[in-house]
Amino acid sequence: MQQFKNLGEVFPSPFRKVDIPLDEMERDIRDVQRPMLSQDEKHEVPGCAEDLLAVYAGLDLNSEHGKDTPRRFLAMLNELTSHKNCNGDCMKWKTFPESVDQMIVVKKIPFYSVCNHHVIPFSGFAWVGYVPDGKVAGLSKFARVLNHFARKLQVQEVLTQEVVNFLEGHLKPKGLMVVTEAEHFCMTLRGAQVPGTTTRIVETLGVFADHSRTAKMEFLEAIK
Ligand SMILES: [Zn+2]
Ligand SMILES: [Zn+2]
Repeated sequence: MQQFKNLGEVFPSPFRKVDIPLDEMERDIRDVQRPMLSQDEKHEVPGCAEDLLAVYAGLDLNSEHGKDTPRRFLAMLNELTSHKNCNGDCMKWKTFPESVDQMIVVKKIPFYSVCNHHVIPFSGFAWVGYVPDGKVAGLSKFARVLNHFARKLQVQEVLTQEVVNFLEGHLKPKGLMVVTEAEHFCMTLRGAQVPGTTTRIVETLGVFADHSRTAKMEFLEAIK
């Protein structure tokens, strides 16, 4: 029986670069035995992708609308998870020396990600507040950081934490607070099916973490 190690082995070029361990999916598709594609067939979409969509979603692979869907599906997965193996080094991150000691708040940054549990989108907004300690970053950078860490299979808590870790590491601020609020389609479209429900995650560091301080209240007031 063929044992798939990762997508890079299963999916030929142009999906060769993809490298997601497929433990869950492996179990489902393990019984579908397919020979590895030869170099000549490298532009063929692997049968496991076709089977997944045909068997589980009733896709008609012979229809005009369905025949290219497995390829589009894989390309989409690849695109939505384009930073899966990246710790943020790909971003050109630059800070500027600045003596400002006031809280800087970047409000309502939109983001889109994919749920790690259900492979279905979740999307929402983030609010970032920080009190600089000698250096600041361009405001657009915060949106870049968010959308960088959103481009992989994610859990909202982890996304929020990764944004905090990255900003903390690069800005070394006196305080940092990141709030994310998202609607998870795995909850609104399936499962509990409760449209409009959102999940809010709050991470605080430094002056924001001290509940007795006014920084946190000031931030929450600012993002109302
Ligand atoms: Zn990256
Ligand atoms: Zn989910």
